[in-house]
Amino acid sequence: MNNALFQFAKPANEPVKEYRPGSPERLALEKELEKQSNEVIEIPIIIGGKEIRTGDMGEVVMPHNHKHVVAKYHKVGEKEVNMAIQAALDAKKEWENIPWVERASILARIGQLIATKYRARVNASCMLGQSKNAFQAEIDSACETIDFFRFNNYYAGNLYSEQPSSTPDQLNRAEYRPLEGFIMAVTPFNFTSIASNLNMTPVLMGNTTIWKPSTTALLSNYHLMQIFMEAGLPEGVINFLPGKGSLIGNVALNNPNLAGIHFTGSTATFQGLWKGVGANISNYKSYPRLVGETGGKDFIFAHSSANPREVATAIVRGAFEFQGQKCSAASRAYIPASLWHDVKQHVGEMLSTIKMGDVTDFTNFVNAVIDEASFDNCKGYIDRAKASNEAEVIFGGNCDKSVGYFVEPTVILTTNPKYESMAQEIFGPIITIYVYDDKDYAETLELCDSTSPYALTGAVFAYDLKALKIADEKLKYAAGNFYINDKPTGAVVGCQPFGGSRASGTNDKAGGLWNLIRWTNPRSIKETFVPATEYGYPFLAK
Ligand code: NAD
Repeated sequence: MNNALFQFAKPANEPVKEYRPGSPERLALEKELEKQSNEVIEIPIIIGGKEIRTGDMGEVVMPHNHKHVVAKYHKVGEKEVNMAIQAALDAKKEWENIPWVERASILARIGQLIATKYRARVNASCMLGQSKNAFQAEIDSACETIDFFRFNNYYAGNLYSEQPSSTPDQLNRAEYRPLEGFIMAVTPFNFTSIASNLNMTPVLMGNTTIWKPSTTALLSNYHLMQIFMEAGLPEGVINFLPGKGSLIGNVALNNPNLAGIHFTGSTATFQGLWKGVGANISNYKSYPRLVGETGGKDFIFAHSSANPREVATAIVRGAFEFQGQKCSAASRAYIPASLWHDVKQHVGEMLSTIKMGDVTDFTNFVNAVIDEASFDNCKGYIDRAKASNEAEVIFGGNCDKSVGYFVEPTVILTTNPKYESMAQEIFGPIITIYVYDDKDYAETLELCDSTSPYALTGAVFAYDLKALKIADEKLKYAAGNFYINDKPTGAVVGCQPFGGSRASGTNDKAGGLWNLIRWTNPRSIKETFVPATEYGYPFLAK
């Protein structure tokens, strides 16, 4: 029996390791990269803790060397999705009744396993499967993944201890039940930490999931699933379903027990799922909770009081780290004419030193984009800019998919602030710059606010307090994560809870109390000590 009233202490963020040449973490990572590069693993479906093999196979390749297969996986069919839903519903009966601290302890153990024994393994799989350099893998698949576990446990304690008032004649309690049914977690290719967290946040609150991992992140996601099981996650609490998104989505949307969707990915996919829920709304036992973080058209906006070198650094890091494939990546910038000469010069200097290539060469800052569709999409924007009379490619612009899906960090300069690459999410290493007349600062802020349907992240660079105040007001709804004199990427769990609104999502702030609340179904319980025995009230007296 566990009757402890428990509270986790507020955790510190997992320290980011540096991977300097010769350091122990570098040696361990290089050894693991070597190992994983020389094997082709077989990834099964995992339902109710059991491995299932359908024989309907797909391949996982390295984006930076697409002839190199790192894994073969079994795809689910309708039958397996239905089995997974049943397994999740069965497992929930026990999982939701386990004291929350025992659930949290399993999650804390997973975090610790990733911090220690399996750090190199998850980082190497993320590097090889998703083409991240060592630093990008470390901040994602190690640090952020670990932080999500530790911070969510801490916030869950806060949430559970939030209780209503009682009086001498009555006891009032809030019981934070999980949702009634199963949760579908649909996860993106670009963050291993998100793949983990979209399952684990509902799971911590007593829910069970069916997990649709992204096919292009299967290598790291499968390693995660194995670690979850090693840490003691009971069978059926998370059911791992590699396969086609639309097939899995359709089966889940048509099931009356769908209690929620925890999604991160593109706006189009989320809107499709939302429509599916709408079309089936009268068939569900409850109203499914829809939590989704989606696309962005994230901006850097410089005022004439900004420091050009700082703006240039934010552009280079914000737009090109992980090939611009962060939902928060800077993909448009507004620069005042008075700063443009200097900003351009600094960006050009920095780009001339950047190397692109395989993740196992640690001197490469930029690696490959995730797949051929992404490569073709990026190339399309670059080719159209080259041919346009309102845009020109001023840096980069070369693309080569002969070995890997390599798109050079590219800067487009446009005279049209609504040019396609100023408004649409590209999700690649391309940033478009619009140079504005210094005197049009306020109007250009309005343009920035109204140019794209998204509102995820944005950064303002200025040292003039008045200018900052105007930007703060004009861009109030333009970003859920707003940065002052910093790049718009790199949100840290517990420090900058993440999410955006408008077309960018439901803004339920992953890694915080707000997100945990979405996976609970509170019950208010009132117990009266001495119940009334007369129905009347004093005002009835003559
Ligand atoms: P995507 O929409 O192509 O895929 C996301 C997931 O949805 C994948 O697992 C995919 O297989 C699945 N899927 C596709 N169709 C489905 C369907 N009909 N039913 C069920 N599942 C389906 O997105 P992606 O390319 O993996 O990720 C990139 C996108 O994610 C970008 O738009 C990016 O901005 C966004 N993103 C947003 C955030 C955020 O926090 N806002 C974070 C990371 C990524």
